Amino acid sequence: MDEILHFIAGKRVAGVSRRTSLVYDPSKGEAVASVVLGCKADLDLAVDASLKAYETWRESSLSKRAQILFTYRELLERHIGELAEMITTQHGKVLSDAEGEVRRGLEVVEFACGIPHLLKGELSDSVSRSVDAYSLRQPLGVVAGVTPFNFPAMVPMWMFPLAIACGNAFVLKPSEKDPSLAVRLAELFMEAGLPEGVFNVVHGDKEMVDAILLHPEIKAVSFVGSTPVAKYIYQRSAENGKRVQALGGAKNHMFVASDADLSAAADAAVSAAYGSAGERCMAISVVVVDDLVADEFVNLVAERTKNLRVGSGLDPNSEMGPLVTKEHRDKVASYVDGASMEGARVVVDGREVIDQLSPGFYLGPSLIDGVTKEMKVYRDEIFGPVLSVVRVSGVDEAVRFINSNPYANGAAIFTRSGYLARRFKREIDAGMVGINVPIPVPVAYFSFGGSKDSLFGDTHMHGMEGVRFFTRLKAVTERWFEEDSSASRGVNLNFPGTR
Ligand code: NAD
Repeated sequence: MDEILHFIAGKRVAGVSRRTSLVYDPSKGEAVASVVLGCKADLDLAVDASLKAYETWRESSLSKRAQILFTYRELLERHIGELAEMITTQHGKVLSDAEGEVRRGLEVVEFACGIPHLLKGELSDSVSRSVDAYSLRQPLGVVAGVTPFNFPAMVPMWMFPLAIACGNAFVLKPSEKDPSLAVRLAELFMEAGLPEGVFNVVHGDKEMVDAILLHPEIKAVSFVGSTPVAKYIYQRSAENGKRVQALGGAKNHMFVASDADLSAAADAAVSAAYGSAGERCMAISVVVVDDLVADEFVNLVAERTKNLRVGSGLDPNSEMGPLVTKEHRDKVASYVDGASMEGARVVVDGREVIDQLSPGFYLGPSLIDGVTKEMKVYRDEIFGPVLSVVRVSGVDEAVRFINSNPYANGAAIFTRSGYLARRFKREIDAGMVGINVPIPVPVAYFSFGGSKDSLFGDTHMHGMEGVRFFTRLKAVTERWFEEDSSASRGVNLNFPGTR
């Protein structure tokens, strides 16, 4: 069985810890590899390599960094098929979806190629007599990223291309469920010319993450994962004096107004709820539909849901692959049981495919109507192919309902009315809003992030927020006199004025 090792100072290394964990191919339901679970001593190796590399990397010219990023972009493009297949075999999502996530990550690399422009400071000439003021953005040093299983390419790529472009050295701790891709991304970056030690990958679980949170040389932590862990990372990082951004879980709502194009809205709901088997932080998990059109809308969604083809992600006929682990599949299925016990109506029952497609970790798409706020299927983040329908009367009730949810990642409205859309986008409490767009993931030059329980910290990922997160701002005030000028002499204890 393949053994997945750390990637430190440009090499795959076994490290010190002997603990390991199995990595599965969810379409077969069998272990295909094992990954090392590192300890503090392994992290020390990675941080030492990062510190050594940082000393030189921080001094590299902006055009050199841009040139390496351009080459990296070309390599990623050339290897996209290989990378997508690695994702599919450890995560389970269908190949076209896996390729899509690499592409969205690649767009952050393209954004980072503009680093000479992105790092430009501001300059004010003559803020006082002979005095100019300007700002510099400087790297932080060694920074770390801790990422979830559901986007093994895109989420790490929200972080490391910009962090490295800004002059930092990066230590990535990917999910132990699908850890291979991170190492390949690091190898390709080195092939593009990145010096060894600038980008290191360490594997592990809580023990490794705790070591990251305590390491005095790690200056910033960028995290994406579930809400309880995000909150923990935020608190522990802050306690230890680190800069932190911690993106958590989600429960994304889509409001279908009575004037919406119902057929287009049904297509969008099905695509956004069941794509990647619902294992997306921006998946639509709840459709809030106006009573006036609810019956018709539910029928349209049900028709489409029943026709989805579930199977191995490597099979081009499959539209939806398996879930990541058996435990997660069983937990998601239990919400369908629970919903019917709590009085909701199971319109489409995805549990039917479990036996048919066993031993793979499959679950078909489920559609549940008549869901209310009190039900567990509504309260919890399910992170699987289960779509709930909640019926409301008009936009006011929809906005009140959505805003009362503790998560606030994405929210969407489907309507033909500019007035309703404008009200919705202004009044809804979510970090990312879609208007007739169900998954409003911002493009790389905007920034990604939610609010409330979906984000701890104040900076979003990538875009200019990413540049700010990975750099420290310095303001310089500079005075140059003509040599021997009398203006440079004389003691003055007053607070310096500018006029
Ligand atoms: P997770 O929180 O279980 O794991 C995320 C990372 O944290 C992994 O690297 C894991 O090893 C580590 N980790 C797990 N438990 C830990 C603990 N107790 N202490 C320290 N570290 C720990 O998340 P997951 O199951 O891998 O991913 C799914 C979750 O991520 C969902 O909740 C989803 O909504 C969320 N997510 C959010 C976004 C976003 O942008 N807001 C994006 C993708 C995924």
